[in-house]
Order: sequence, then C-alpha cells, then structure tokens
Amino acid sequence: MSTVAFIGLGNMGGPMAVNLIKAGFTVKVFDLVPAAMHALAQQGALTANSACGAAASADVVVSMLPAGKHVRSLYIGDADNKGIIDIVAKDTLLIDCSTIDAGSAQAVSKYAADKGLTFIDAPVSGGTAGAAAGTLTFICGGSDRGFELAQRPLTAMGSNIFHAGGAGAGQVAKICNNMLLSVLMVATSESLQMGVDHGLDPKVLSDIMKVSSGGNWTLDKYNPCPDVMAAVPSSNNYQGGFMVDLMVKDLGLAQQAALLTNSSTPMGALARSLYVNHARQGNGKRDFSSIFEQFATLNR
Ligand code: NAD
Repeated sequence: MSTVAFIGLGNMGGPMAVNLIKAGFTVKVFDLVPAAMHALAQQGALTANSACGAAASADVVVSMLPAGKHVRSLYIGDADNKGIIDIVAKDTLLIDCSTIDAGSAQAVSKYAADKGLTFIDAPVSGGTAGAAAGTLTFICGGSDRGFELAQRPLTAMGSNIFHAGGAGAGQVAKICNNMLLSVLMVATSESLQMGVDHGLDPKVLSDIMKVSSGGNWTLDKYNPCPDVMAAVPSSNNYQGGFMVDLMVKDLGLAQQAALLTNSSTPMGALARSLYVNHARQGNGKRDFSSIFEQFATLNR
C-alpha cells in the first residue's frame, strides 16, 4: 500500500497530500487547477492528466473535493467520463475525505461494493492548520475491513481516527459537528462584539471566556476577532481557512439530514440563515469566521 492517488488539492487536500509524501508514500496527484498540481510537484508529487490517470496504478485513492456531485462523478462517472471505480484494480482502497451528503457516500459505497471494491467516507475536522500539521480528526463510515485498511494513510494525515458506523455514518457525524461549530462561531462573534461595544479589549475578554464556562474551540484555536490571535484567518483579512460557501453547503446538508429524521435543529437553522445572508453579501469566498463582521457592522 505505497502508492496514493490524491484528487483535489485545495486548501485542505494540498497539505494533506504533502503529509502523505512526508510519510514515505509515492503520491500521484490530480486537480482541475494546474497551479495546485504544480505546487505539489515541487513537494515531490507525481502529476497526472486526469483523475483516472492518477488512480490507475494506485494502491489507495484519496479524494478531497467540494461537494457530493464532484465525488459521485469522480468515482461513478457521468455521461462524458468513466468513474475511477470502473478502471482501478480490485484491491484498490477508496477513501473520500470531502464533506458531502450521506446519500452520495452511500451510493458510491454501494457502486464500489458491487464491483468488489472497498470505499470509506472519511470526512475531516481540524481545518487547514490541522491539515498542514497532520493532526486532522478523521470520522469514518464503512466496513470494519475498510476502516482497518485505511489506518496507515490516515495516520499520516491525522491524529484522531474514529469509526462512526457503516457507509455514510462519517458524513452524518461530520455535519453534526459542523452545525455545532457554526453555532459556536456565531455565538462567539456576537459575544466578543458586545464586549468590544462596552469598551472591553477583545483579547482580554477572549482570555477570560476561554477558561470560563463559555470556553469553546473557536476561542481556543480560531478567534474570529481580528488581531486577537496570530496565524488565523481573522488576522489575515479572513483569507484562506474554511470558506463561507462551504459552511453554507454543510449547514444545508445538516438541514436536509434533520428533515429526514424530523429532528428539531433551531440553532442550526438560524446559523444557516445567517451564513446564507453573509454569503449573499459577497463573503462566500472568505473564511467562515468573517461572520464576526456582521456583528461589528451592525453595532457600528
Ligand atoms: P477548496 O475549494 O480549497 O479545494 C477543492 C479542490 O478540488 C480545488 O483545488 C478544486 O480545483 C478541486 N476540484 C474540484 N473538482 C474537481 C475534480 N472534478 N477533479 C479534481 N479536482 C477538483 O476546498 P477545501 O477547503 O480544500 O475543502 C474540500 C472539502 O473539505 C470540502 O468538502 C470541505 O467542506 C471539506 N473541509 C474543509 C475544511 C477547511 O477548513 N477548508 C475543513 C474540513 C472539511
């Protein structure tokens, strides 16, 4: 299991592929953006002209793509192209790390199983910093055997690897997490801004709340208020990181999942509305912590 095909070299996939190279895997990459492949080639990756070209001789395929339609098209194919599942060897392990709807993950898993191949959904948590540091959390769905086989490549990119259940279970757990994250980011933003409005220093307020009952991941690792924390998107005009458009996608997936089980998710629904509004105001490509600006602007 030494050759990995890596498809999708964006904010997350790029640094994840670099960690596979560092761990000694031969990594063959493909992305629609040539510059993304060029950057990986400089780190020691081989490049391919297509996803199937990268996957053809690989022991493992790892994908990190935006949404379910990209993942279905990559593995199952479409009217114009064959999917990876139809061209790889029978013992190739397929791992999708994108955050997508559980239904798409289950459809790809079934298509793979019908052809004798093992597919697992393995969405991640930990952001771009976790991707670069190789400390991602992987949340896997699929068979015990698939989970076991995936350990070696996943350990090269992450430090916590969970088996949430059968096909699609990784995706369900991931959107539960991201729904919670969005609520925490919005609530942290409005709390910090209220403190600022009352003349508090946001750094001092953050230090207080971090070790008090309001402490949460956004305060510890991803403060949304500019210049409170170094090396986070809020201190870099909200560039890089996790795009608002992707959070809107995940919150839409969470609401679809809630409908399927008639689950009540009022906070998630409100967070989705706030993020949709933020995206519609032209912030879709900025980091999701830029929601802070909504409160800073409203209160100006
Ligand atoms: P991104 O937009 O930076 O990267 C996606 C990459 O996929 C781009 O380079 C794009 O060119 C490429 N791509 C799209 N379609 C392709 C295709 N058909 N073939 C080959 N390449 C293709 O997105 P990202 O931030 O890296 O996120 C990727 C996935 O990871 C998403 O599902 C996202 O929800 C999830 N995620 C992101 C973060 C984060 O902090 N950015 C954290 C956890 C999970």
